[in-house]
Amino acid sequence: MERTIAVAGGGAAGMAAAIQAARLGAQVTIYERNDRVGKKILSTGNGKCNFSNEKMGAEFYFGSGTRLVDTLYKTTGTAETRKFFEGLGMRVKEKNGYLYPASEQAATVLDILRYELENLKIRIHTNRQVTGLKRHKGLFAVETADGKKEKYDAVILACGGMAAPKTGSDGSGFTLAQSLGHRIIPVAPALTALRCREDFYKRISGVRCDARLILKAEGRVLRTERGELQWTDYGISGIPVFQLSRLAAYALQEGKHTTVEIDFLPDYANGKDDGPYKAFWADRWERQVNQTAEQFVTGIVNKKIGLLLLKLAGIKEQAQVQDVPISGRKRLAELYKSLTVTVKGTNSFEQAQVCAGGVDCAQVTDSLESTLVPGLFFAGEILDVDGVCGGYNLQWAWSSGISAGRAAATGLL
Ligand SMILES: Cc1cc2nc3c(=O)[nH]c(=O)nc-3n(C[C@H](O)[C@H](O)[C@H](O)COP(=O)(O)OP(=O)(O)OC[C@H]3O[C@@H](n4cnc5c(N)ncnc54)[C@H](O)[C@@H]3O)c2cc1C
Repeated sequence: MERTIAVAGGGAAGMAAAIQAARLGAQVTIYERNDRVGKKILSTGNGKCNFSNEKMGAEFYFGSGTRLVDTLYKTTGTAETRKFFEGLGMRVKEKNGYLYPASEQAATVLDILRYELENLKIRIHTNRQVTGLKRHKGLFAVETADGKKEKYDAVILACGGMAAPKTGSDGSGFTLAQSLGHRIIPVAPALTALRCREDFYKRISGVRCDARLILKAEGRVLRTERGELQWTDYGISGIPVFQLSRLAAYALQEGKHTTVEIDFLPDYANGKDDGPYKAFWADRWERQVNQTAEQFVTGIVNKKIGLLLLKLAGIKEQAQVQDVPISGRKRLAELYKSLTVTVKGTNSFEQAQVCAGGVDCAQVTDSLESTLVPGLFFAGEILDVDGVCGGYNLQWAWSSGISAGRAAATGLL
């Protein structure tokens, strides 16, 4: 008799798991609470779906599962994912290591997954939320919100986390995992913007600029990022901020004073004491001596930033350069190199791309099976694994999905 497998959650991880298990001969059923599978995939990578990255490794991930990432990616990493999608007819485009469908349409990824689900005759129950999971006499009873109950040999929980709940991941997977005794590592929104305390954000909202950002908690450096910083009317955003956000979220949860130091002139690598940096200012003060302060800052970086830094340095825009005291000049040069903003929160799960935290990976084996409940597997964001921006979270969904599907169907990693 074919092994029967229920997959709770028809997202990236659930679909990959279902396809792999069915290819190995299992009879697979997907339960999806939305009216269709794969809703989140459509909004990934700004509609282009950055589905993986050529640069791959545990160093791009956080959480209790980084060791699992190392193990699983040896057999199911970027190359295998690429092959998986190319095998389904999707041409792949690479840009600076980031992988996309050549069509530049996230819908392509979802379409070809759906066609393969159909091809493999995988049963898909949409509009059916899994509300209960019980194990009795070696079988799982899967209960759904419509009151139905069905039995399976194995179950793969792939319900996602709590990020972007409009796409279906509302945290109910954690409740299911908990009901069977699993520990949930506290969750936090990740890959999202930071809300800050200062009162100047409305002045510079909309500005984008290159910057180096140093995240600190209680003065200790947590991580440094460089890239395009985007200012909003409540704080800071953009890819480098997203990369810092999960660390900021946990620091704040621990009640730590959390700041970001912003370096607007990161090419002067050695801070404010950099020789060329000092020379840059000395030369500018001398050459532009007959200008106003506003004219003086024009052309260094974005003008709105220049005017803000003047104000913070206590220099009036209309002041004559020759009248700006040494202390003001020093303060201005320091601010260009290090403007400190105080983080008071992250954006909520609604605006987060990923959910950090989740099922503790110490309670799953290398084949993603629960150590507490044999026959129960986990895949994707429901596990305490989250990656940085750049295709890493979807890669985790594919790798863990394929691995869980394989193990659930065959008992092999
Ligand atoms: C706006 C946005 C952009 C992103 N861009 C990228 C990107 O370009 N590259 C990248 O790598 N990552 C990106 N991500 C992250 C990536 O999409 C996710 O990490 C990944 O989709 C997680 O897959 P998953 O299958 O584990 O969970 P999900 O995709 O969240 O799927 C879980 C599924 O389970 C269903 N479900 C939940 N509970 C139940 C239940 N009790 N019963 C039945 N069904 C249930 C949900 O409806 C959902 O369909 C982005 C995320 C967002 C929000």
